[in-house]
Amino acid sequence: MNNKEILRTVETQLGEIKYILTYKKIKNIYIRVRRDCTVAVSAPLRVPAEKTDEFVISRCEFIFKAIKSIASAAQCRTTVTFTDGSVFFFLGEGLRLKINAGSTDHAEAGNGSLTVHTADSSPEHIQKIIEDWYRNECKKIFLKAVSEIHKSFIPYNVPLPEITIREMTSRWGSCNPYKNKMTLNSVLIKSPMSCIEYVIVHEFCHYIHQNHSKDFYSFMQKILPDWKERKNMLEEFFLIKNN
Ligand SMILES: [Zn+2]
Repeated sequence: MNNKEILRTVETQLGEIKYILTYKKIKNIYIRVRRDCTVAVSAPLRVPAEKTDEFVISRCEFIFKAIKSIASAAQCRTTVTFTDGSVFFFLGEGLRLKINAGSTDHAEAGNGSLTVHTADSSPEHIQKIIEDWYRNECKKIFLKAVSEIHKSFIPYNVPLPEITIREMTSRWGSCNPYKNKMTLNSVLIKSPMSCIEYVIVHEFCHYIHQNHSKDFYSFMQKILPDWKERKNMLEEFFLIKNN
């Protein structure tokens, strides 16, 4: 009985959303956009469906964004080549590579494209320009997000940490509050901004609670009430990319 699934449909300002509602022994309502783009909602046992409808409507922007980025990630399962038309992920969006014969080497993102200007269009050279571009964007975007998010932690006497950005295989981020250092996985730049923010908040929360204790999660809930949706979105995003 507890795990009965109910199909609901709601009208939102952005369009119709169908979702699968499941009741569980939990405290809050959670939304998850699955890899097949279906929307799953878990709700505490006695919450009326009207309430979950309302919740879904209030999160419609998040849901449509998640569906869009999952769908575009699904389109890109082929091996990356550094030629015209290849897709590169940036902040949850798939950018199509355009090679433009120009004199100074540089790359720029805009209107769904990643335009690389270069006189040398060999794949190796294009790859280098794109990697440099990713590295610069990571630095710019991650550092800005860290200093924004840090503001929420000033009341808890958390200092602004020293940031290291590098590719990591098994984690999104890590931190050492004693050394005041935070490391972020450069791969995160491919995922939506809301996911990057979630990882940074998670690491900052470790300044207050070292382990993933109950206190850690309730503190995170207070700082970022929709952290679970963001975490799910991050996992779904990369699950597809790793297929
Ligand atoms: Zn952690």
